[in-house]
Amino acid sequence: MSYMLEGRTGSWEIVVGLEVHAQVISKAKLFSGAATAFGAEPNSQVSFVDAAFPGMLPVINRECVAQAVRTGLGLAAEINLESRFDRKNYFYADLPAGYQISQYQMPVVGRGSIEIVLEDGSTRHIGVTRLHLEQDAGKSFHDRDPVLSYIDLNRSGVALMEIVSEPDIRSPEEAGAYLRKLRSILRYLGTCDGNMDEGSMRADVNVSVRKTGEPFRTRCEVKNVNSIRFVMHAIEAEARRQIDVWEEGGEVEQETRLYDPGRGITRSMRSKEHAHDYRYFPDPDLLPLVLDPAWVEELRSALPELPDAKRARFIREYAIPAYDAGVLTVDQAVADYFETIAKGRDARLASNWVTGNLFAAMNETGRSIENPPVSAAHLGQLLDLIADGTINGRIAKDVFEAMVETGDAPAAIVESRGLRQVTDTGAIDTAIAQVLAANADKVAEYKSGKDKLFGFFIGQAMKATGGKANPAAVNEALRRALS
Ligand code: ADP
Ligand code: MG
Repeated sequence: MSYMLEGRTGSWEIVVGLEVHAQVISKAKLFSGAATAFGAEPNSQVSFVDAAFPGMLPVINRECVAQAVRTGLGLAAEINLESRFDRKNYFYADLPAGYQISQYQMPVVGRGSIEIVLEDGSTRHIGVTRLHLEQDAGKSFHDRDPVLSYIDLNRSGVALMEIVSEPDIRSPEEAGAYLRKLRSILRYLGTCDGNMDEGSMRADVNVSVRKTGEPFRTRCEVKNVNSIRFVMHAIEAEARRQIDVWEEGGEVEQETRLYDPGRGITRSMRSKEHAHDYRYFPDPDLLPLVLDPAWVEELRSALPELPDAKRARFIREYAIPAYDAGVLTVDQAVADYFETIAKGRDARLASNWVTGNLFAAMNETGRSIENPPVSAAHLGQLLDLIADGTINGRIAKDVFEAMVETGDAPAAIVESRGLRQVTDTGAIDTAIAQVLAANADKVAEYKSGKDKLFGFFIGQAMKATGGKANPAAVNEALRRALS
């Protein structure tokens, strides 16, 4: 079922293309040796190149190029062995050079694709048009002083990858899935940390609407949206605005807009008449970027297993449901954790424990998979205690909670709290005899045909053993006692 918005004149389809700016993980900037650490003292990581002192020459950082190539390979994209850097000219106070070095006509990475999985389990491929390298600008602060603006050039010259999608996205859900998948791939590759709240990944959202079967209509670009949720909201808000314009007999004008999360609307930032003319031209300070095919192959062979491949392998190797495999492979550290406990054990049970109890405990404690509330070794030991019958599945949940609280190994908790499973038939028979004696009226009802009471007796007998009895043994003993 495709996603449509209803208007007065019928159903409308949404068309979205995303331009994602992803900050490259690299110790130094794209064309200078200055550091890139987040949160440093303002203007403490600025070289003469970044501050655009006259006569300073940019020198390309090999590692930033490697990161872009790795990303291109991870997006199954064409790597352009020859690309070029251009100057994109515009004036802004936090852009001291008066231009940004970017790649306009010849980007380092060409066409690729990203597979997304939707809520109903279906998959789609979203085309990637290109990926190019460019410099970030500085940052202006207009809210620190009533009359002065402050400028921090730490970000000036930091390497960004701009990853442009085809207009293949058809709903807010697909946009969300695309961004999550892209972020997951970038993190696996180690080429961008994907932290949208720190601004290291941000999206420009191009939106248009059309009636089914029509060619594309005019789009608007919603600039610099900094969370996946806001991207999804902005698409819906902007599409509704455009539908109203068309249905009232107007024309959507191509323009740049901003999303206001507080009010849930987009508003105009600059119209087409104010569109920039950047007067791109090849940067005379830089030679064309020519890559050695052997170097590209070297980078390719060093790529890690990526989310799609890992997901497919988990389904195949561990026979877990596709949905679980998807959840477990979003984050490489989660996938590693799962594999540590799944190897040689009941993988489905391992998956349930990770996606259920472990994730819940991470939420409650605010801890991450890098510093988990229960280590993989301990959770594996807990599964072993269930498998060898030391505890039952019900008690295992209590043991897990105690593990979160204390950090102790599961065996120690089972011993110190006396939680071993009761399999001793004598003890189970005694508990059942007590339960039946205390509920003589219900026993009579059961015997006169009220079969449902069997569950009640099971519950009471389990309770009488403190939940520790082996449920199968209780079931069998109860049948014997009642027959
Ligand atoms: P520009 O060079 O002006 O930025 P591009 O053709 O590179 O324009 O497109 C920029 C982004 O806009 C791409 O992500 C593309 O998929 C998207 N886009 C293009 N046309 C449309 C449209 N009609 N509706 C929605 N998005 C579109
Ligand atoms: Mg653009």
